Amino acid sequence: MTLAAPESIGGAAALEQQIDGFMMRMAAQSPGETEFHQAVHEVVKSVMPLVQSKRAYREAKVLDRMVVPERVIMFRVVWADDAGQVQVNRGYRVQMSSLIGPYKGGLRFHPSVNLGVLKFLAFEQVFKNSLTTLPMGGAKGGSDFDPKGRSDAEVMRFCQAFMSELYRHIGPDTDVPAGDIGVGGREIGFLFGQYKRLTQRFNGTLTGKNVFWGGSNLRPEATGYGCVYFAGDMLSTRGESPKGKTALVSGSGNVAQYTVEKLNNLGAKVITMSDSDGTIVDADGINNDKLAWVLELKNVRRGRIREYVDHFKGAKYLAGKRPWGLPCDLAFPSATQNEIDEDDARQLVKNGCYCVSEGANMPSRPEAVEVFLNAKILYGPGKAANAGGVAVSGLEMNQNSGCMKRSRDDVDAQLRAIMHSIHENCVKYGQQNGFVNYVLGANTAGFVKVADAMVHQGYM
Ligand code: NDP
Repeated sequence: MTLAAPESIGGAAALEQQIDGFMMRMAAQSPGETEFHQAVHEVVKSVMPLVQSKRAYREAKVLDRMVVPERVIMFRVVWADDAGQVQVNRGYRVQMSSLIGPYKGGLRFHPSVNLGVLKFLAFEQVFKNSLTTLPMGGAKGGSDFDPKGRSDAEVMRFCQAFMSELYRHIGPDTDVPAGDIGVGGREIGFLFGQYKRLTQRFNGTLTGKNVFWGGSNLRPEATGYGCVYFAGDMLSTRGESPKGKTALVSGSGNVAQYTVEKLNNLGAKVITMSDSDGTIVDADGINNDKLAWVLELKNVRRGRIREYVDHFKGAKYLAGKRPWGLPCDLAFPSATQNEIDEDDARQLVKNGCYCVSEGANMPSRPEAVEVFLNAKILYGPGKAANAGGVAVSGLEMNQNSGCMKRSRDDVDAQLRAIMHSIHENCVKYGQQNGFVNYVLGANTAGFVKVADAMVHQGYM
């Protein structure tokens, strides 16, 4: 079925009609995939005027094609828990686009994983990867497996069972998975070990590997550091920097941890971290000594963030709450999708927040995004602000194929340069009456390269 209208029509009302019509048809083709619809809607709102104004895009039906994955792989994952009980999970890989490079994107292990969530993440990944300027297509995968509370041996057996099917669909020139929620260094190690056993190949098929066996320096830090660099670039448009600012961070996983570290190193004060059970508030700031304790808690002991207040007596725990009700200058949502709703956004703006840099993917609901844009604050959407992780993954692929290793300083310099160029592209494409709309900028800059490649490569 054709989704985009064949001819350009003018006027704001007509444009609305085109967007609504496209979304209705697209939603009918992917029923129930609400997160995917949300992600597509955000991009289509930004790029429909461009698509309608460019004959080559209309004729090639670029939008119709971009919302259909090139391939979806779904499989059964069967493994045995420590009690010898058989466990059954669902495994997925959504290979969305290989237009500008091999499929690239993380694996998520979380009970909320389903096809719609992974299609949203894969769709976002296409434009994010395009923004990095590196040759990477877009994909995402994962499972509804929950690593929380599982022993290392159970996680290993699950990873081995998952890779026993996935390995035939991936490779250094075809599809290169990485980590995401629930998939960190431990899981990448088990997945890589099984990939190697099955293929008899040591190559760069997975990124996020340990730095001693093929990983890149600074990959664990890259998403968080990059997100803070992006915030720094946004602040610099107002002659400011993170120094001396108060920041809220959500989450306490990989992205949150290194967001806090970089903010500390740049002289900001971070007063919150969270997990899905609640938020800790430390008015004195979560300095790097306290952060080292959090890293041990989360990455080694695999505990819960509420334990922070037992250890650091001045801190408070807000059970069941997110951080967004507190006064701050900067906010870094770094946990999961849709973690900021309209009320949270209003509260943030009312309490003085004027810069939001998204470490998580699509953490702000559409109504929250509207609040930020209407308030004209500095709002960096995830596909731009959190692209540092996949950018350093791209550098890891590059190092693996060249059998070489870059120093920490070298990778950091490249990460800074890539985040800076993403920011410049957002500014270039996001101008709106003197205001930089980073959503428009990121969507358009990411889209143009993919759409042009689609036109150049013919029907596929
Ligand atoms: P981790 O698994 O390391 O940490 C996730 C954190 O978010 C945990 O604190 C977790 O708490 C919390 N969280 C997860 N789900 C929910 C939920 N439904 N409600 C509230 N809190 C939740 O993941 P990452 O740090 O790697 O990923 C965080 C975000 O960043 C995700 O949106 C991911 O897609 C995005 N991202 C990650 C990149 C990377 O390089 N890792 C790259 C780009 C984006 P709990 O322990 O209670 O589940």
